[in-house]
Amino acid sequence: MNSSLVVFNSLTSKKETFKSILPNKVGMYVCGPTVYSNVHLGNCRTFISFDLIFRYLQHLGYKVRYVRNITDVGHLENDSDYGEDRIAKKARLESIEPMEVVQRYTLDFRDTMTRFNALPPSIEPTATGHIVEQIELIKKIINQGDAYEVNGSVYFDIIKFNKKTPYGKLSGRLIEELIHNTRSLEGQIDKKNPQDFALWKKAEPEHIMHWPSPWGEGFPGWHLECTAMSQKYLGSQFDIHGGGMDLKFPHHECEIAQAESVYKKSPVNYWLHANMLTLNGKKMAKSTGNNILPDQMFSGENKVFKKAFSPMVVRFFMLQAHYRSIVDISEIALEASEKGFNRLVEGIKTLDNLVASSITSEFDLKAWKEKCYGAMNDDFNSPILIGYLFDAVKYINATANNKQEISTKDLEELKQIMNEFFNDVLGLKSDEKSIKLSENIKLQGTLDLLSEIRDKARNSKDFETSDLIRDALAKLNIQINDAPKGSSFKIK
Ligand code: AMP
Ligand code: ZN
Repeated sequence: MNSSLVVFNSLTSKKETFKSILPNKVGMYVCGPTVYSNVHLGNCRTFISFDLIFRYLQHLGYKVRYVRNITDVGHLENDSDYGEDRIAKKARLESIEPMEVVQRYTLDFRDTMTRFNALPPSIEPTATGHIVEQIELIKKIINQGDAYEVNGSVYFDIIKFNKKTPYGKLSGRLIEELIHNTRSLEGQIDKKNPQDFALWKKAEPEHIMHWPSPWGEGFPGWHLECTAMSQKYLGSQFDIHGGGMDLKFPHHECEIAQAESVYKKSPVNYWLHANMLTLNGKKMAKSTGNNILPDQMFSGENKVFKKAFSPMVVRFFMLQAHYRSIVDISEIALEASEKGFNRLVEGIKTLDNLVASSITSEFDLKAWKEKCYGAMNDDFNSPILIGYLFDAVKYINATANNKQEISTKDLEELKQIMNEFFNDVLGLKSDEKSIKLSENIKLQGTLDLLSEIRDKARNSKDFETSDLIRDALAKLNIQINDAPKGSSFKIK
């Protein structure tokens, strides 16, 4: 297995050589969406980032068990232990069943990810499908002395846990700082310490999602599901845990505490966090309204962008940034990505039709291949990889124009590598729109050239040539309109 893969581990804030626990196998858990609304493009960026990682690990030959959950209970409005459950609130507002909310937005999420050509995870467990496992986990945490029950709710005792095992390793937040910054908030009067977090919450009479438990009717806390489900499917210690940067604290910090309380070891070897997508310089978020939905982007029906952009162009735009960098989405940036994407698609098409012309090549294929792998092995650096793919496109175009040469052997290998990186690793494919667009661009360029030649001919009174161009285009239903400043054309 390729041992030169290096990943940035958020737990140590360092790049580390990746070594899986079991040879040739990787266990990867990524926090999935809370299905109370349509996923926005920001959410999609995180899932596309992990799709790239999943794809590359598989490409390297690992057998990956990729678990990505669906949060369908327990995520309260304030990412904290008070406020209404997001799904229950949506159900109340629309007078429908919570599971109707869950079904609608799970389907939307899956459909959206399919349009982005993201591979489905190996297992997609739901929080409501794992209530039994979550209750069992709470019992174990109570047995360790790290949780307490008050009035039908169970809380994790951070102060007590921290005496045995340091809390805050991932986010770098010290417990003292946490104590200082946490105020006693509404609905948290039961807690011994305000910074403790809920493992189980008692269901108030108006709360429609609840299950029986040893502590009475209630529902699980948000952080618990990911520990219960990751342990169930990947074991008490697994290779990779991912999610958006904003989940580091408190969500992932609490996951670590829950697992360490029971299993007495660090649950995850490599914590990977994807950075945020911003719009107008601010984090894209459902709550602030600063967001755009994938459908609105693909149809062009939105107030932010003047034109529509296809799923593959948006995916390509996202992959042109490293997954740990912040990316601001804008019309100018998307248009540049669209051009780049079309150039890449064109290059691959040209490559498919390329004929070997020599027994040697004027391109060091071996060095180029190493650079491509070097980029991806360096913490999945897709923008650098894309840069190398463009280098290859330059060479492909030069070869197609007889300015460079390629051998039969290299041509076959280049085709294979380009296909593997473009399709399998980056998860790109030429979509209908990009094909049409690139054809339009070619047509536009040809017509511009023809009208320029025709203008020149007319200026030098070469009417034979100018009429020839006009008549030939007319036969193709393209009408040339002469004007003093130059001619223009209209496709009928
Ligand atoms: P949620 O449904 O709110 O739990 O979020 C699902 C995933 O989307 C989480 O991993 C978040 O970190 C991620 N996420 C939310 N907003 C953004 C954003 N603006 N850019 C990138 N990822 C985001
Ligand atoms: Zn999670």
